[in-house]
Amino acid sequence: MIKITKGNAPKILSGAENRGPKKTKEMTDAFDAGTREFEFISDIYGAKSVKKALIKAQHDKCCFCEAKFTHVAYGDVEHFRPKGGWIQNDGDDLTQPGYFWLAYKWDNLFASCQLCNQRFKKNHFPLEDPHKRALSHSDNLDDESPLLPDPGVDDPEDLLTYDSDGQPVAINNNPRGQAMIRIFGLDRQELVQRRQEILGDLADLKEMYFFLDGERQNGSLSRDGLKILHRIEEKFRSKTATSAEYSVLSKSFLTGLS
Ligand SMILES: [Zn+2]
Repeated sequence: MIKITKGNAPKILSGAENRGPKKTKEMTDAFDAGTREFEFISDIYGAKSVKKALIKAQHDKCCFCEAKFTHVAYGDVEHFRPKGGWIQNDGDDLTQPGYFWLAYKWDNLFASCQLCNQRFKKNHFPLEDPHKRALSHSDNLDDESPLLPDPGVDDPEDLLTYDSDGQPVAINNNPRGQAMIRIFGLDRQELVQRRQEILGDLADLKEMYFFLDGERQNGSLSRDGLKILHRIEEKFRSKTATSAEYSVLSKSFLTGLS
């Protein structure tokens, strides 16, 4: 998971085209008049323009697991604060309504792979203090302290890293990192296996790097050796770039080298 910087809201969600804001107004008026059940229009929050802008901002990666998925799947437009209802603790029933007033809000939307969204996060949205939950548009979201980091606001790299076996680790056992691992399923076998493959490739490169760097330092490195060393350094840079798949994993393994 990386911090995500989005551009301006697509027109459908902004005043320019107004479908999102108009529907939001209808729902908040209905809530104030007593309505507690809402239907959501996926053609708005999941519009092509919305998905395209999210995928671009996220470098084709799932906002939770950092897998590049767009070459094999459509992916989901995920609501960070769940629109239809929320779950505080594992095993709880769904409480409705959810954050209905954020269904078409650009800040609340991210692109995720289907597995992360549909099999793991679903409607989970635990708060440090559940009594401070915003229950409608009249409440202040700033009063909430969500356990899950908001990828548009928080830097998940402050909370989570990886060990040399590709297992996710909450830094200093912090509860938000632990919640990320549990709720997003970041320790699932398929992800750990993929990370181990990447770490295996990086370990080979790292070994070559140390050998050639040793020669460079004692002045015995040939010109061809130097070229290879530079290519390895370039590879480290590309693997740790924000746009790279599983970049946080590579960064944690290559700290100080690229
Ligand atoms: Zn994912």
